[in-house]
Amino acid sequence: MIGRNMSVANEGALDPRGRETVLRVAFMLLILGLAHLDRFGVDLGAEVRYAPLYALGAAYLIFSVITYYLYETLGLKGSLRAITGAADIAFFCAALHFCGGVESYLFLLLGVAPLIGGIYDGFRGALYAFVLCALGYGVVALLDPSHPGGYELAQALAFRYAYLAGATSVNLFVIDLLLKDRKRLKVFYEISVSSSKSPALYNVLKEITQRLAELTRAEVAMIFLHNEKTGMLEPQQPSLGLDFMATGKLRVRVGDAGALSDCFREGRAVLIPRSLSRDTAIAPFHPSYEVFDLIACPLAARGKSIGVLVLANKLNRRGFVRRDLELLELISPHVSVFLDNALLYRRSEEKVAQLTSLIRVVDVINTVANLDQLYNLALDVIRGLFAAEKALINIADYDTGLLETVRSFGFSQDYVSRHLSHPFETIRDCYVLGNDDAYLCGDLATDTRCPNMAVDPQTRSVLCVPIRSGNKIYGILHMASRYQDAFDDEDATLAKAIGEQIGMAVERARLFEEISRLAITDELTGLYNIRHLKRVLGEEVKRSLRYERPLSFIMLDIDFFKNYNDRHGHLRGDEVLRLLAGLLQQNTRDVDSVFRYGGEEFSVIIPEVAKQESLAMAERIRRVIQDYVFPYEEDQPGGNLTVSMGVASLPGDAFDAEELIDKADRALYHAKQSGRNRVCAYDEDSDYTLPRAHGSTEE
Ligand code: GH3
Ligand code: MG
Ligand code: MG
Repeated sequence: MIGRNMSVANEGALDPRGRETVLRVAFMLLILGLAHLDRFGVDLGAEVRYAPLYALGAAYLIFSVITYYLYETLGLKGSLRAITGAADIAFFCAALHFCGGVESYLFLLLGVAPLIGGIYDGFRGALYAFVLCALGYGVVALLDPSHPGGYELAQALAFRYAYLAGATSVNLFVIDLLLKDRKRLKVFYEISVSSSKSPALYNVLKEITQRLAELTRAEVAMIFLHNEKTGMLEPQQPSLGLDFMATGKLRVRVGDAGALSDCFREGRAVLIPRSLSRDTAIAPFHPSYEVFDLIACPLAARGKSIGVLVLANKLNRRGFVRRDLELLELISPHVSVFLDNALLYRRSEEKVAQLTSLIRVVDVINTVANLDQLYNLALDVIRGLFAAEKALINIADYDTGLLETVRSFGFSQDYVSRHLSHPFETIRDCYVLGNDDAYLCGDLATDTRCPNMAVDPQTRSVLCVPIRSGNKIYGILHMASRYQDAFDDEDATLAKAIGEQIGMAVERARLFEEISRLAITDELTGLYNIRHLKRVLGEEVKRSLRYERPLSFIMLDIDFFKNYNDRHGHLRGDEVLRLLAGLLQQNTRDVDSVFRYGGEEFSVIIPEVAKQESLAMAERIRRVIQDYVFPYEEDQPGGNLTVSMGVASLPGDAFDAEELIDKADRALYHAKQSGRNRVCAYDEDSDYTLPRAHGSTEE
């Protein structure tokens, strides 16, 4: 009911109650006007009684106004409509009575009543109006027994009922035509209302298939959309009358012969009536699904074919006929517009989604400072945004000319160990690095642009983009799928943007790592500096105390270095510092850390080693330095450049890092005091006192 009223409201400017009132007043004026023809000498067939006619007109006018204002209250949209209909007919019949009764020609107007009834409520309304008119006319005839001589009442009634019946039949035919038109308009209207409320493709497809099936009484209604990439007509979900599985199997190749592909290619609607369906192979319908008759209508929007609309199995005995085809041809341009809008809407939604994710990527990537985290994040993004089953990040090493896979997902363990763990792809062969462009490949079997792409049955389509920042390309982002055409141009554009974001983040992370490294490195020797010593030693001491593990610490100072500098200059002195740093690194374990404490003083942290063993290690180092031939060392006292060392260890010598340094320093001072070129361990009992601090500052 509501749907009907909405559609009525849509077709005309007036709402139903206004229209009814206008109709009533117009009819009243028409009857009064026609009655006045009598005054101008026109023979109405009887004598008109004006006074009651005016009174009746006034009453009817009041009735019209009341029904207008009380339309909702009286529930005139529902069952009370029948009563107002009866009142309308009663008015006409009473007017007829005062216009001269059965003899008046005004009864001709009654023939219009079924048409009006029909417009309001289809065949039922027309029939209802006919019955009311017949009854009303019968009452008038009975009220007017007086008639001129020779005029038979029975004859008059028979004549006038025959007229009513004839007029009703003609009206029904007219109504049939009008309703068809209205039904079609209703379909447009309902599809447009629902598609404007929810322009999602799914809803529009559902609305179109359902409405068209209702309109044409088809059992099956579905829409095939043309996929330009695959050249297929693909059935869309939801469809009407076919289940999900069956719909999925109905893909049609445009180039193949068949009713649907012909319809699409030639842009011509096709009707396969029930009589023909036995001889015509209605490809591609599933063999288990029986199609008796079918209409296919091409869909085109903005000058381009977009698909085919298919209706099948009309739910009646005859099946689809030409008229159904014509109806569908009239409707299909509108359906195309709705579909086209829905497709455009979907595209814009996808674009917005992609942009949103890009913004999120940019946001998150900007918070990552560490390369490891960055690579993980980048692959997570790829996994979420693209139809990639596997992806990897290859970083270019321009020194070796190789690409090194730093992170991947989706590759088999075997593949990773055979290919990815050893860099096997070269920068020279890489299409992306060579052409400074994205590599979008829909089918590797027919694409030989990239020599690095090994033919692999598990990989069909590939998308590679550079990881770049400005002019510098750091590597490539590679994603792949075992399906053909898994990626499109839009994916490539998005991936490129993501590649640039990753590139900038790589650049930033590398800079950050470089700065962090510089902050803890001594420039002259390349060893860790005292800042790093303090942090590392603090942690090592804590760990050692907590887990009761041994830890040793060596302080080392060059003997008579002032003398060396004075004789050979600071530059040669620096060279000695560098040589000594190298010797220290070569002669300690990987787990030990060597620091330049400051000036010509060095320290070594030796985890997991107790005092005795560390003394032996220090002694070995001392001997290596003693044996090493430094330039110009012959000018040193004793003709040799040597060092003195102090060792302090946990447990026992200290409770924190500062104390440990201090104890090692005291032991070093003791070594110097005892004649230099020797190793001394801190000994609590001796408790050497320090007349001067062996600090980091130069003297
Ligand atoms: P000893 O330690 O045996 O008591 O005698 P020393 O002459 O080595 O005395 P000290 O450790 O006090 O001398 C430190 C000297 O080391 C002073 C300075 O000339 C030199 N020195 C400190 N830092 C540097 C440096 O960065 N480069 C150079 N070339 N010399 C440095
Ligand atoms: Mg010194
Ligand atoms: Mg010294």
